[in-house]
Amino acid sequence: MRGSCHCGNVKIELAVKVDLVTSCNCSLCHRYGAIWGYFTLDEVKVENITGRIDSYKHGDEYLDFHHCAQCGCVTHYTPREKAQSDRMAVNLRMFEKSLLDDVAIRYFDGADTWEFKTQSADRYFI
Ligand SMILES: [Zn+2]
Repeated sequence: MRGSCHCGNVKIELAVKVDLVTSCNCSLCHRYGAIWGYFTLDEVKVENITGRIDSYKHGDEYLDFHHCAQCGCVTHYTPREKAQSDRMAVNLRMFEKSLLDDVAIRYFDGADTWEFKTQSADRYFI
């Protein structure tokens, strides 16, 4: 499965199928509007055509959030060395819109409780 930022500079290829995704309301994800899919580093191939990609870290600085320096799309985040993790996330909004039609979206309350929220509406799943 392949996706890219708006201008095509950052291309992302997933080696595995996506069936569960996460929307988080922490101070950063809320602003990005990202829908995250979680993977190990070896399941994702990121290609940066022009070399123009910027990163942002915040809080405890365990993660680098990457965005295209040309079009500004937030594409993925990766663990920094201090995190000692091989988990990363990809913003699935960089893929065909139809990808999100068939997946379960779980809502993570990263702003307060750090728990997944249960909702009754059809679009909410755990
Ligand atoms: Zn771009």
